[in-house]
Amino acid sequence: MEQRNVIITGIQGAGKGTQSEILRDKYGFKHISTGNMFRIQYACGSSLGIEAHKYWSIGALVPDSITISLLKRHLSTDKNLLDGFPRTLPQAQALDDMLLETDRFITQVIALELSDESALQRIEIRQTCIHCGTVYGSAKQPALPNFCDICTAPLITRADDTTEKARTRIATYHSQTKPLIQLYSARDIVHHIDASLPPEQVAAHIVRALKL
Ligand code: AMP
Repeated sequence: MEQRNVIITGIQGAGKGTQSEILRDKYGFKHISTGNMFRIQYACGSSLGIEAHKYWSIGALVPDSITISLLKRHLSTDKNLLDGFPRTLPQAQALDDMLLETDRFITQVIALELSDESALQRIEIRQTCIHCGTVYGSAKQPALPNFCDICTAPLITRADDTTEKARTRIATYHSQTKPLIQLYSARDIVHHIDASLPPEQVAAHIVRALKL
């Protein structure tokens, strides 16, 4: 099978999670979200989860050593969709090395484009399912307010979705993560997608870009 190792990147609130769910459900990608993994590990009370929570709960990045070791355990198939990883240059280098060990490489990068202002507006109203992680916002509202359509569990506002923490995360995105797009642009594998469009239109652009 032709390998597909796709990164989906973009500012907080750009819709990485929503688009990843679509690609997972319709096209069989393995959705690898380091953010979801950290939340699950914390909910389970693992030592890694408790250590990582010290950082993500204040809107800071989790140290590379923790994040890379967590990712390593999940990069298994030939159809990986990396959501929220890499976020720093050392992570990008570690990812290349990990893939190379099994003759793999990053095949495409989806860069979701959204202004800081729109990102903040979206983050301030979004709700996340405590059980399955499904995200709701203005474009997708639950049928029953405050409960997940998929698994009926309660929806919460993520601890790091407050305005102040969101601002910190957006600043970090600009200083540490956005520069990675240059790295992948030099390989000619980046597709820039307008993330201000409704989710189904964004999905259609991604599907076309990835030639799915
Ligand atoms: P996300 O759900 O992708 O917005 O991630 C939530 C939080 O988890 C981030 O704000 C970070 O604190 C942490 N996190 C997720 N992915 C990474 C990563 N690749 N490197 C460092 N921290 C991460």
